[in-house]
Amino acid sequence: MKAIFLGPPGVGKGTYASRISPQMGIAHISTGDLLREEVKKKTELGLKAKEYMDRGELVPDELVIDMLEKRIREKDCENGFILDGFPRTIPQAEALEKIVKIDVVINLLLKDEFLIEKISARRQCRKCGEIYNLADIDREGIKMPPILPKVPGKCDKCGGELYQRDDDKEETVRERLEVYKKQTAPLIEYYRKKGLLKEVRVTGGPEKMVPIVMEAMRSPPQTK
Ligand code: ADP
Ligand code: ZN
Repeated sequence: MKAIFLGPPGVGKGTYASRISPQMGIAHISTGDLLREEVKKKTELGLKAKEYMDRGELVPDELVIDMLEKRIREKDCENGFILDGFPRTIPQAEALEKIVKIDVVINLLLKDEFLIEKISARRQCRKCGEIYNLADIDREGIKMPPILPKVPGKCDKCGGELYQRDDDKEETVRERLEVYKKQTAPLIEYYRKKGLLKEVRVTGGPEKMVPIVMEAMRSPPQTK
């Protein structure tokens, strides 16, 4: 199974992918996490990427495509993978097509107002990347209880410290949503035309949504 999770920042791509990939025995590839690793290690790529990420802009295609291509060739991707945060532009999608054949694209939908609330309340583990969320949403038919660690500030999985990403502060979040609409949203039509798109409206937390997303991955995509 080779799947792409598409959707705006904060919609839950990373959370769902991190729970679904072990259940399906496939790799979870988050280009955001890969880039944050490079930044942390202060590699040449990391130093270049950081200035774009801090501004909420996209890292240039050639840098991300190169990184992704190397990652996809690793052994754990042989059984398949979920791409979370890639592709984000049409050139990235075209480059991907030359590397591998994708089975399904899941487009996750949620209103901006909820996205901003969720991103601002997001916390991530510095060590393993696990995602938590302090937001407690229950209105307009959307019920998303907070995703809290057992010990406040500490990751359940590895004990690592939880932190708020620099680009999860409100000013940068709005810029990222704009960038999403301009540069990434066109991919929805791109994949719809290829007959690969499945839309999933997000109405709940991972307990509710994970089975729905998995079902969407397994059933054949709707045709044009
Ligand atoms: P989110 O899904 O919450 O927006 P990510 O962790 O996927 O966050 O991405 C964080 C940042 O990393 C983006 O704002 C962008 O600067 C950079 N980035 C991640 N993936 C890509 C990509 N495929 N192309 C360009 N930039 C990317
Ligand atoms: Zn952790």
